[in-house]
Amino acid sequence: MNRYFEKNVGLLYAMLKRCELCPRKCRIDRTAGETGFCGLPADIVMDCCLAHHGEEPPLSGTRGAGTIFLSSCNLKCIYCQNYQISHKVQGEQLTAAGLARIMLDLQDRGCHNVEPVTPTPQTPGTMEALLMARKDGLTVPFVYNCSGYENPDVVELLDGMVDIYLPDFKYGQNEDGRMFSGVEDYVENCVASIREMVRQVGDEGRLIMDGNGIAEKGVIIRHLVLPGRMENSFGVLDLMKKHISLQASVGIMSQYTPIPALRTHPLLGRRVTRREYESVVNYALDMGFENLFIQDVDDRSFSPDFERDTPFNFESG
Ligand code: SF4
Repeated sequence: MNRYFEKNVGLLYAMLKRCELCPRKCRIDRTAGETGFCGLPADIVMDCCLAHHGEEPPLSGTRGAGTIFLSSCNLKCIYCQNYQISHKVQGEQLTAAGLARIMLDLQDRGCHNVEPVTPTPQTPGTMEALLMARKDGLTVPFVYNCSGYENPDVVELLDGMVDIYLPDFKYGQNEDGRMFSGVEDYVENCVASIREMVRQVGDEGRLIMDGNGIAEKGVIIRHLVLPGRMENSFGVLDLMKKHISLQASVGIMSQYTPIPALRTHPLLGRRVTRREYESVVNYALDMGFENLFIQDVDDRSFSPDFERDTPFNFESG
């Protein structure tokens, strides 16, 4: 099995020469110092890592998810709640061996898993690091936390290496993907990629947990409800039911907060109302989704501040 994984990691590295790691398909040679939309070099760039207590309970458990915030992103939504690190390239440049040590350190600190965010443009180094860490004793689940704007051919190469997929499903209509993320083809790439994720973990993507309620395997699909974009949210749920699975867990998130640059935006300049959020949750329940993670709608802000040593209000650092 290791040979198979190593071969696939080799194929991922080969993609850097004409980068098609995500659907933007910039086709530039990152190994020769060229950069595409994400701006990332061929090496791994990490902003920070921490024990994260704000993920879904089966991921955060009591000791936190081992979250590794990688720098930049291939989607760069205009409202990104992590914009401080996703809209630019900054942080520590790492080798795969260096990232493997970080994974092992997070395990030693008691984290229930290791969870790179967003690995998509840095998949080759991230997966090589995973294989190295597995050889050196990493046993906790590997969580692939991504935006859903994935190249399905790349997701295929991850088969067997990822224990838990944690993709966003942001848009049920490409109009919203165009307005808020500048892509024309979010829906088709997201649907095909999540279908492949569900196929890989089996059992229709059901979340498998240990006796303490800690996730071991499966898929959690996240959807951030955007203000006034209910049709977009309903579209996401329609597509999930039709093309993916009713069994996968779905996290419907109410926490959207306008970032400073969007405070006067005509559509995205406010938070989601309780009525809007509940209409999406009720729609999901009516459609037969049973495994839902839902949130309160209140005035609290869960937005991280990556300028601080502890970006989240609820993490232990
Ligand atoms: S990973 Fe970066 S360089 Fe590669 S296709 Fe996507 S945006 Fe372009």
